[in-house]
Amino acid sequence: MYENGKIELSMGIHNGKREKPIIAYASNLPQGMIKEIECCYDNGWYLAVTYEDGQEAKAYQPGRSVGVDLGEIHTMGAFCENGQALLITGRKVRSLHRLRNKKLTEIQRCPSKCQKGSRQWKKYERAKRYVLSKSERQLRDALHKTTKQFVDWCLAQSGSDVYIGKVEGVQRNTRKKKRANRKQAQKISNWSFGKVKQYLAYKLAQHGIRLKEVEEAYTSQTCPVCQKRRKVSTRTFACSCGYEEHRDIHGARNILSKAVHQNIIPWKVPTKLTYLRIA
Ligand SMILES: [Zn+2]
Repeated sequence: MYENGKIELSMGIHNGKREKPIIAYASNLPQGMIKEIECCYDNGWYLAVTYEDGQEAKAYQPGRSVGVDLGEIHTMGAFCENGQALLITGRKVRSLHRLRNKKLTEIQRCPSKCQKGSRQWKKYERAKRYVLSKSERQLRDALHKTTKQFVDWCLAQSGSDVYIGKVEGVQRNTRKKKRANRKQAQKISNWSFGKVKQYLAYKLAQHGIRLKEVEEAYTSQTCPVCQKRRKVSTRTFACSCGYEEHRDIHGARNILSKAVHQNIIPWKVPTKLTYLRIA
């Protein structure tokens, strides 16, 4: 690598001969110690740069506990033991999912006469790869923004321990007959749940905040006051005993309750609700 942004990518040795390096130019390389530069292909060539930003992760310092519930309507719902609650709307993520699926169905209408390996088939395959990689990039971006917002909120609450449900049955109200249609949606939401966790893990670690998984069985369905279970399909979890709470805050608080008290117990009413969305 040179000062002027010129990069020589070593091609290694093939058949005992050292291959000529590939030369690339990059105008805005990140500041810091560059560890690795890879040349990748994803509908066009690009460079993937791995570097040290020089920022050491902060050490863990005991603070407050936070429960997180991941969902469809709100990508993230959170509740801190200080009584503050957070909702980050998933509208953007949802519309990206929808757009992606819509485009995929359009492309998949490849006529039946379209033979595998044929020119037309290749054309459809290319288009499919394009849609997938583009929408994946957009989704990644949206999830990065979402998790960043959460981490900032968490810092403002002096959070030190974050509890998140183990992902299992994501779509809690899946009905059998709708299953086929939803399979694709399920797949993608599992994908984004996994990504959210992955991003959270390293973003929180940077600030010395711990992330732990909690068995989330029934946390969304159980009333913390009378322990009765019910499935919710509306925005509010309302129990016959009179308990009522926004469904995602309800979920996040029950997860926190389970982590801290090993049980789902009635806990503070949120003192403040922060509502965020990503642009
Ligand atoms: Zn109840």
